[in-house]
Amino acid sequence: MIVRKNQAELEKMRAAGLLVFKVLDTLKKMVAEGVSTQDLEVAAEKMIADGGARAAFKGYPNPSAGTKFPYVLCVSVNDEIVHGMPSQKKILKSGDIVSIDTGVQLNGYYGDSAITVAVGQISEEAQRLIDVTRESLELAIDKARPGNRLFDICGTVERHVTSNGFTVVREFVGHGIGTQMHEEPQVPNYVDRRNENPRLKEGMVLAIEPMVNAGSPGTRVKPDQWTAVTEDGKYSAHFEHTVAITADGPWVLTRP
Ligand code: MG
Ligand code: MG
Repeated sequence: MIVRKNQAELEKMRAAGLLVFKVLDTLKKMVAEGVSTQDLEVAAEKMIADGGARAAFKGYPNPSAGTKFPYVLCVSVNDEIVHGMPSQKKILKSGDIVSIDTGVQLNGYYGDSAITVAVGQISEEAQRLIDVTRESLELAIDKARPGNRLFDICGTVERHVTSNGFTVVREFVGHGIGTQMHEEPQVPNYVDRRNENPRLKEGMVLAIEPMVNAGSPGTRVKPDQWTAVTEDGKYSAHFEHTVAITADGPWVLTRP
């Protein structure tokens, strides 16, 4: 069942969303050569606590591994797609691309967003990967309107990515969001006709999150049982926003 939110609930989600924005906006400015991904984690954890929120990722269970995610951020560098773990040993260097994903729970409601940032001078192809991934999210957000269908979002991401010569990850998907971080429906970055294709209605809130590979779409999970990487070792980018469907159109809760 897809839970729809009323205006008061959307306002709470907005507050969570703006805190997530503030965290990512600050981290984006911190990203530089010589910074460790743990430096980002430390800054984020403080901002989330100062904002009176609970970090949504920390303690998140991994049923297949029987472990809980130990950090407030997922930081995924280069060939890491999602769910990378912050580390003091992971020092950013020029040419890297770093995806930062975080979520918070504030007053019972979740916000979830991700960005991919260049470190120093990156290759032309890496820049194009970042640009195409961001564009695919923006195009998909524009489809988040009452009367459209879920596949309008999924297909928009897929078409933009594939027409630019990149590939979408299939093993990880976007999701509904509200009082749970992951609610129905799943929001894949591709159209699978075997899935349901519900009509989008006012009050639905979706975390739309294209994960885009420069090379082949294949993925594998590292022995830490969290970090997803590209099978071919090529770069992957990730952007995400929490988006409410309203009578006035898409309301991106995770940016001002
Ligand atoms: Mg996320
Ligand atoms: Mg998400």
